[in-house]
Amino acid sequence: MLRRRTDRAGRSHRETHQSGRAGWLRAAVLGSDDAIVSTASLVIGVLASSASLAATLVAGAAGLVAGAMSMAVGEYVSVSSQRDAEQADIARETQELVRDPQAELHELATIYRKRGIEEGLALKVAEQLSAHDRLGSHMRDELGIDQASLARPLQAAWISATSFASFALVPLAALLASPPGLRLPIVGALSLASLAALGALGAHLGGAPLGRATLRVTLGGALAMTVTAALGRLLGTL
Ligand SMILES: [Zn+2]
Repeated sequence: MLRRRTDRAGRSHRETHQSGRAGWLRAAVLGSDDAIVSTASLVIGVLASSASLAATLVAGAAGLVAGAMSMAVGEYVSVSSQRDAEQADIARETQELVRDPQAELHELATIYRKRGIEEGLALKVAEQLSAHDRLGSHMRDELGIDQASLARPLQAAWISATSFASFALVPLAALLASPPGLRLPIVGALSLASLAALGALGAHLGGAPLGRATLRVTLGGALAMTVTAALGRLLGTL
């Protein structure tokens, strides 16, 4: 994950650390928007058709499970193909290292030379790093694959499913907690408030301006809820 560098050397160190943590945190926050918007819209659409609490709850819970499963499957498929590409690269590199270790050593030295290290030293660096961890240094410096952040499909699937399911609980909890006459406005208001808070958190983690990101996600959510409410009301009269 490459991030904009600051010209102040003192700050760039801290920011590099922050970007490492922000990666999965930001993915979880962005996935949570989906969970709140889709579940709240579903609940509001069903409520607007004047369905009973039980029917609305069944629809909302089904939406939670369906959303979490589809997030998990989607994430598993996409991260798996990323992992397949990584594994193919690593297998090819391993073969090349066996077939022509000398050429690979010079390839590594050339990479360091292009990064600004003087020729003799570049070869020395390549030799010492190869003696320490040959495949590791080729993966890192030639392929750009970090062993600590290899693609993990099951972990990615599990994180996005859990994140979706927990945030989809917000509109469902609001539905259960609100008095009969006020269900629709309370579900809408609490869901929009959570969206705004998450939008601000996501912008903060990404180092973006807070106002615009918050407004965007809140307006998008409000639009989705208004459309499903109108549709629910319309279909409810059939
Ligand atoms: Zn190589």
